[in-house]
Amino acid sequence: MSILIKGGRVVTATDDYVADVYVTDEQIDQVGRSLEVDADRVIDAAGKYVLPGCIDPHTHLDMPFGGTVTIDDFESGHASAAFGGTTCHVDFCIQGKGQTFGEALDTWHAKANGKALIDYGFHIAVTDLLAGGTLEELASLPEQGITSYKLFMAYKNVLQVDDLTLFQAMQVAAGSGALVMVHAENGDAIDVLVREALGRGETAPIHHALTRPPELEGEATNRAIQLARIAGSPLYVVHVTCKEAVEPIRRARELGWDVWGETCTQYFFRSIDDLARPGFDGAKYVYSPPARDASNHAVLWDAVRTDALSAISTDHCAFLWDGQKTLGKDDFTKIPNGAPGLEDRLVMIHHFGVNEGRIGLNRMVDLLATQPAKLFGLYPRKGTIAPGADGDIVIFDPAKEHTLGAASHHSKADYNLYEGMTVTGAPELTMVRGNVIVEGGQLVAEPGVGQFVKRARFGEALSS
Ligand SMILES: [Zn+2]
Repeated sequence: MSILIKGGRVVTATDDYVADVYVTDEQIDQVGRSLEVDADRVIDAAGKYVLPGCIDPHTHLDMPFGGTVTIDDFESGHASAAFGGTTCHVDFCIQGKGQTFGEALDTWHAKANGKALIDYGFHIAVTDLLAGGTLEELASLPEQGITSYKLFMAYKNVLQVDDLTLFQAMQVAAGSGALVMVHAENGDAIDVLVREALGRGETAPIHHALTRPPELEGEATNRAIQLARIAGSPLYVVHVTCKEAVEPIRRARELGWDVWGETCTQYFFRSIDDLARPGFDGAKYVYSPPARDASNHAVLWDAVRTDALSAISTDHCAFLWDGQKTLGKDDFTKIPNGAPGLEDRLVMIHHFGVNEGRIGLNRMVDLLATQPAKLFGLYPRKGTIAPGADGDIVIFDPAKEHTLGAASHHSKADYNLYEGMTVTGAPELTMVRGNVIVEGGQLVAEPGVGQFVKRARFGEALSS
């Protein structure tokens, strides 16, 4: 199947021009003016943007957590992603206590097998280096295309690792060519604050945010940066939410250290006030780190504009409000942490970032596609539009009106963080390696078309 996309405005992280794009054998073969090629299908993209498929480096599909399992599996999660213009994601494979990394990866590969609609990779979440995986096994994972190690500095007694494990994993990464990712919050201090709050009878959703103050994110971020500096590993701080965490990342980057940070869509739009909504509605906004004081919205826009933060992910970790979030009706610590968002990133960042003049169109592509590809060993096969890259393309109509909400989204979640908000600009067609996945508001591909991607080591190119 070959496709010629005619006359669209090709926008990459660096360029913006009108051209034709010819995709054949799953790859972009030619980009140029008035291409003379025979294609099985010709798509008129006049007046539309032709964007590289977005890459989401932070998702949790089919993940056991908080006494339940995230509601989107690889099929519904991937459908949701494709409708939102995301063509590849890197999900977290979580090592269970006592499990080897190989056992955990077998479990995650099985979850995706036969269900995938977009391409995917896995980060390994290291939770146990004593009874489970060994340092040697961790060092060998890049050979299987698992080139990023995630460590949780929070979620005490569940996912949290101590500094010994964190530092050892960093030392392994320095030698194996992996990128270290951290969830940076001080889990020990949070644990104390949570027990004190419960002791005072404070059980409502708002106390989730009040027991995880921004200083504890700032402290853990700085600790991880300094440890990575000593270990010699590159570091990527996930879901940065506040000034306290942006500042140490910005400083490290100004010093030329190998430190990067991401934020997520929701941190630009939601605030601590959402957790105080009446009834039990606040539980919809319970995720970690929590939504912050709204003064941080401008801090984050400034950070992504100036490259203090280099990527925007979703941390899609969807639970039903009715039946899953309600597990914590009488105790905020039992509310499963996480929210949906895989589908909403591109339209929200385009509208509130680009349309409202906070970032440019090239920077949007950089944050949503090119930087995630470069940092996670997918570039230049993914993350740009160029001959030889995968035919992962989004045709985006900048004039299309789109209203977000649970009734129209494709996640199984029964609520949307941006319910009722209307944006201008939305994807019209999404293709993965030249296979059209979504078109005209319909899913037109069968599960199984998505493939596992063996990612390159940190800093290395992924060839096609
Ligand atoms: Zn996450």
